[in-house]
This record gives sequence, C-alpha cells and structure tokens, in this order.
Amino acid sequence: MKSKYIFVIGGVMSGVGKGIATSSLGLILKTKGYKVNLVKADPYLNVDAGTMNPTEHGEVFVMREGLETDQDMGNYERFLHQDISQVNYMTSGMVYKTVIDRERALGYGGKCVEAIPHVRDEIIDRFKKAAKENNSDITIVEIGGTIGDFQNAMFMEAAKTMKLHDPNDVLVVVVSYLPTPGAIGEMKSKPTQSAIRELNGYGLHPDFIIARSEVALDKKRKEKISVSCNVPIENVISAPDIKSIYDVPVNFEKDKIGERVLKSLSLKNKKPNAESIKLWSEWKNFVKNIHTPKTKTFRVAMIGKYFDTGDFTLTDSYLSVMEALKFAAAKAKVGIEIEWVDSKTIEKNPNILKDIFTRCHGLIVPGGFGTTGVDGILKSIEYVRKNKIPYLGICYGMQLAVIEFAQNVLGLKDANTTEIKKNAEHKIIDIMENQKENLVKLTMGGSMRLGSFKCKLLKGSIVNDLYKVDEVIERHRHRYEVNNFYVPDLEKKGFKFSGKSVDGKLMEMIELGKKDHPFFVATQSHPEMLSRPIYSHPLFDGLVKAIVKGK
Ligand code: GLN
Repeated sequence: MKSKYIFVIGGVMSGVGKGIATSSLGLILKTKGYKVNLVKADPYLNVDAGTMNPTEHGEVFVMREGLETDQDMGNYERFLHQDISQVNYMTSGMVYKTVIDRERALGYGGKCVEAIPHVRDEIIDRFKKAAKENNSDITIVEIGGTIGDFQNAMFMEAAKTMKLHDPNDVLVVVVSYLPTPGAIGEMKSKPTQSAIRELNGYGLHPDFIIARSEVALDKKRKEKISVSCNVPIENVISAPDIKSIYDVPVNFEKDKIGERVLKSLSLKNKKPNAESIKLWSEWKNFVKNIHTPKTKTFRVAMIGKYFDTGDFTLTDSYLSVMEALKFAAAKAKVGIEIEWVDSKTIEKNPNILKDIFTRCHGLIVPGGFGTTGVDGILKSIEYVRKNKIPYLGICYGMQLAVIEFAQNVLGLKDANTTEIKKNAEHKIIDIMENQKENLVKLTMGGSMRLGSFKCKLLKGSIVNDLYKVDEVIERHRHRYEVNNFYVPDLEKKGFKFSGKSVDGKLMEMIELGKKDHPFFVATQSHPEMLSRPIYSHPLFDGLVKAIVKGK
C-alpha cells in the first residue's frame, strides 16, 4: 500500500501542543492497527539540533542512528512506543545543504537552482523516503513553526504540491488556538479564522481543525469554526487544556478523531489486532496510574546548569529526564516532585545542600557540557555520596561522579576532565582518541559519540539486577570518557565499573557497592531517551525504588 500523508500545521501561535497533537494522532491511528510513522520538518537553518544550547531550543534528543534532533522526536518515540528512524527528521539547513552540495557536484545538469522546484522537491523526496523506508501506511508530518512564518514556507509548498498530485492521499490538520480573553470572558474564534485564511494563501485548506483552548468547545463554537473556516463540523476537534499531555490521545478519541481521519483518507476502520488492543489498554492504564492520588510523595533534586533564561526553559532543557522520572513514579505508584537546583547557587553557598537534602530524598545530575556550574555539581555529588542519599548520574553526571571520587577518595586534588582543564595533573576524564581531531579542526556538529551502543553489564551488579539482562543498548552523546589508566586505583577504593563497551575499552556505567551506599549509580549513556510511558527505564526504577526504601 502507498503511504497516506497527514500534514500537521500550527495556527495562531506556537507552543500550544502541535507536537503532542501529532504524537497523539499517531498513537490513535497505531492502535487502530495501522503502521504509523511520524516526521518532523524543522524550519531552522542549523543542520541538526546538536549545536544549540538547550536553553535556546530545548533538550537535544538523539535518534537510534545518532542524529541530534529536537525534543519532538522524543515525544514521538514515547507516544508511539517505538524507535523512530533518523530519516524522519529534517531541518531547512539539512535540506538546503543537500541541494547546495548537489549543485556543487553538477547534480542539476547546469540548471538555475531555485527554491521552487529544487528545494521543495528535495523536501518531498525526504517525506517520501521516510514513508518508504519505514514501510508505513500513514505518515504524519509535523511542520515546525506556525502558519505565516517566513521560515517554513518551503515545507508548506511541499505539502501543497503533494496534495495537488494526490488529493485523496493527503490530509491537512491545523492545530489552532481559541483564546478566552479575561476581560471579554468569551472564547474567540477570529484568530483561527485569520490563520486559516492565511493558510489558504499557500493554496492549502484544512481537512481537520484541532481547536486548543482553555475549556472544551461547545456546539456553538464548533459550528462557528465549521462555517467560517469551511470544515465539516465533525472534523472540528475539541482540545481543551488538560492535566497531563498523556491524556491527549484519550481526549481526542472522545471526538472520534481516529475514525474520522481514516474515513477522510478512505482507509478502513479495521478491527484492532491483539497488539494494538494491548498498546491502547497499557496506555490507558498508565494514564489512570498518573492520576490516581498517591499516598506518598518524594522529592528528587535535579542539579543542572541550563537555567539561564528563566523558569520557562527548565522543563524544556531536561524534558526526557523529567518524563522518565514520571514514568518510574507511575510504575512505583508514588508521587515524585522535582526540585530544580541551579548548580551556581550551590557554588555561592554550599551550605544550602543540607537544606536541599532535608527536603529531597534523591539526586539526579543530568547531562551537560563545559565549565559553568561544575563545582556546585561536584559538591552535591560529594554530599549525597557521603550521606548515602540515592544518586543517579547521567552522562556528565557519571563523569563528574568519577572526578569527585578521584578528588576526595583517591586524594587526587587536581583530578579533572580535560573538557574543563586541559592540563589537569590527573586527566580522569579525557577526550576520546577519535575525537581529538574534531577539536583541532572545529568539526563540532554531529561529531560526538552519538546514537545506540551496546554495553556489557557486570554480573551481580546493581545495574545487572535492574536490567535483568547481561547486555543492553543505550543512546549516547558525548566526546569525553573515563581514562582507563585510573580504573584500577578507583576499583581498589570500592568504585565499580559495572558497564563496559563490548570490547571492554570504554567505561559505560559505574556504581558503589551495595554495602557502601544504598544507590549510587551513573551511566555514560542517556537512559532517559529510552524511557517510555509503558516502559519505565530500569535505572530510573532503581532510583525511585531506592528512594522509597530509604524513607
Ligand atoms: N560533556 C561531556 C562529554 O562531552 C558529557 C556530555 C553529556 O552529558 N551529554 O563527554
């Protein structure tokens, strides 16, 4: 079967949940027995998201094959409960680079190369490649930005052309916003009407409007949108604010969006198979779990360094870590609250650690880069190691745990990572051999150790007990590694290297013995990226269990 396409486009303003709407629609269609594939077309000119500071564009999510993308890809994987391929992600930068490289290689046979048709057609080829390589029945493409942006115009052109060629195989869904201004006290549809008119200017018209709003749309409002935007009333989907993003699929189904979309694409409303029934019931069970009031709530401190642009960016910079904690809490049927701590505040006043850990029952140090805030993080790790407070270190959180141990237990005062101090006396964390050239030549984009790698676990270790297997695959994103020269000395003092690369050369996980500490575990990988609503990650489960046990 040829893939059908659904383009999801944002109207009125950004940040109203276009990515979640895309993911939710994807999940619903998957539970109806179709092979669904989600694609993101991001308008920015960076070739990938890897060179951006998380405070700019949110967390960088790493795909299985290693592409660094935006956090929407993480949502796609979490909602669909499947790995998504890197062919499903593109940026304007990536598209233009391909076109320009091809032109330089005489690939256009002497023609004048232009946005239309050449850039547009490169985009269409990428959409089709994503559909073909994934052998998908339905490909949902989320176009970044909103209607009227200059930056996403080529993606709109691509959608228009595809709809022109195959009108019955392409749907357009607009995720719009209906504000209820306080002073007026009434839900207004005018901004949505204007957005649709602007969309018409691209030669596109919506088949569905997902109407985001504070409260559910009443019949009158649906009629108004239907009449003024020329969309059948059944295709106006009410999407009110709700407690959790994971409620969205269940909520969408109240308006029978799945059935309606299938009908519009002339696809059968199949009898769901065993697998899709299981997926839907596990999803609903998870949603029920997160809403069941908890008798016990615990606090976890997240000490990080990407807090620079105010509170609004917090959740974005560490999105997957936060979600992973939520899933582990739901599984353990306890409440988990996160206390965000900017490591720079600890540098100013290390005494606050005592206050933090009278409130908090565990610590996570997530991934990071560079010098700022590192001293505060080292002090926090020292505190939880000595006071036997459960600790989970992620990537930088593992490297810094090794440095802290070397400084304070091995007594190597000048132990450091060469990322921070090039000429440190004890280069406990050092640049990977194959990364040296990248630093010299400044080939920084997309050149870290990226994507999925296998890791062998030490028999009988905490991580071995948690994963319940001897070999795991985790996602990675780093340039530095533990310097093996120091491994024997660290081991002598009770540090365990409980995960190693298959060739034994790279130290991938560390832990302290069960007798020395209730839970002190860290990994060079990013386990948060593989944690999903219906598959809570073993390392996060381990942290939460240790916290619950310790209370
Ligand atoms: N900065 C460290 C490195 O590059 C850790 C990276 C991370 O935390 N993702 O190795």
